[in-house]
Formats: sequence, C-alpha cells, structure tokens
Amino acid sequence: MSHYEKAWQAVRDRIEVAARGAGRSPQTIELLAVSKTIDANAVRAVHALGQRQFGENQVQEGARKCAQLADLTDVQWHLIGPLQSNKTQLAAATFAWVESVDRLKTAERLSAQRPMQLPRLNICVQVNASGEASKSGVAPSGALAIARAVAVLPRLQLRGIMGIPELTRDVARLRAQFRVLRECFEECAAAGLPVDTLSMGMSADLDIAIAEGSTQVRVGTAIFGQRSKNNQSNA
Ligand SMILES: *Cc1c(COP(=O)(O)O)cnc(C)c1O
Repeated sequence: MSHYEKAWQAVRDRIEVAARGAGRSPQTIELLAVSKTIDANAVRAVHALGQRQFGENQVQEGARKCAQLADLTDVQWHLIGPLQSNKTQLAAATFAWVESVDRLKTAERLSAQRPMQLPRLNICVQVNASGEASKSGVAPSGALAIARAVAVLPRLQLRGIMGIPELTRDVARLRAQFRVLRECFEECAAAGLPVDTLSMGMSADLDIAIAEGSTQVRVGTAIFGQRSKNNQSNA
C-alpha cells in the first residue's frame, strides 16, 4: 500500500467508526480531500484510490490545479476559503462548489457569472460559530437570511452550511460550536430550504463533528501530510 492509500484508508476508517458510534450510516458522510498547497501529482494519486471531491482554499491555486488535472473529468472541486469580489468570476468558472459564501453580494456575483454550459454552482453558507474576529462567516443569526437569498438565485444551488470551529483541544467548546452549526442547518431545513450538507470537521476533530451531525468532513493533513508552514490559512 502506498503512503496515500494508507492515510486515505485510515481516514475512511475513522469516518466509519465515528458514524457507527453515533448510530449513523457511514454513507451519509462525504469525505472532501483538502489539497491546498499539495501538488497535482499527489491529488492524482488520491484520485486513483477513488477520491472524487477535492477542496482548495484559494481561487487561483484551485484554478491552476483544476487546469493541470483537466483530464480527471469526474473530479469535483470545492472552494473552502475566503472569496473576494474580484475573484468571483474565476471561482464561478472553476469550482463545482463554493462553501464559503457569507455575503449576499458574493452569491449574486457567482450566480450572474456562472457559465451557462455548467450546472448550477453548489453553495454552502459559511457560518462563524466561534465568534472569533479573525474568522470568515456570517453570524449564526444571519445564516437563514443568506441561505434564503441563495436559494432563489437562478444559477446557484443551495446545499447547506459550512463552518470552522476554534482551534482548541477543549472538546466541550468544539462540540458547542459544532452544535451551533447544526442548529443553523436545522433552521434552514425547518424553513423548507433544500439543504443536505453540513460541512464541518477536519483532521483533528472529524470524529466529534460526525457525532454532532456532520455530513461532510474536510480533511487535508490526515491524507496528504503536514503542509508547509507558510500556507496554513484556514480563515
Ligand atoms: C485547510 C482546511 C481544512 C483541512 O484542515 P486539516 O486540518 O489539514 O484537515 C478544512 N477546512 C478548511 C476551510 C481549510 O482551510
């Protein structure tokens, strides 16, 4: 078994154990492989194992990798990092998902700029559950309003909620923040919005996130190894 195969399989095993522990089917949890800073050959190796969903946190890096791997036509690229207005056009042409929408204006631009020959762009509303000033995301009380607005934009498909909790080993705090994200998700569902995705949990905390209802874990380090120190941004 290659290094990537071992690591990828270990993550899948963790997902399975966490799901069963929570009384859930492992099939209800999607693994998004976060390939930011990782080169295209490593993405190719993990794709060969059967992985199809990949996440990038920078628009330009994502677009570059998407072009380098254009022959892998079944890959879906997810943008999981902050999106500035001047990059929405490239993002709308590159990604299958944008999980970091936290302003209506960004959503409107993505809808207007989504190329007609592509399917609707899948969208998660990013929620700041920790309240940290350094974090992107709308406050929990504002999530439903943005989700409603995304749901009626013609070239977007609302999918759900994404969030990044505080970087802490305090399990009770993590749980509380994952619960805030789940409540936002449930609020959208109760309002009749067609949400199916609660994106939360990373290498260090995916087990807790799954116990709290995650349907998509975003995992980088545990699959690809440590990233170089000068590109760790996950705001
Ligand atoms: C980098 C990143 C991840 C993956 O983090 P790991 O700890 O490497 O698993 C997940 N989500 C977002 C938004 C990120 O930027």
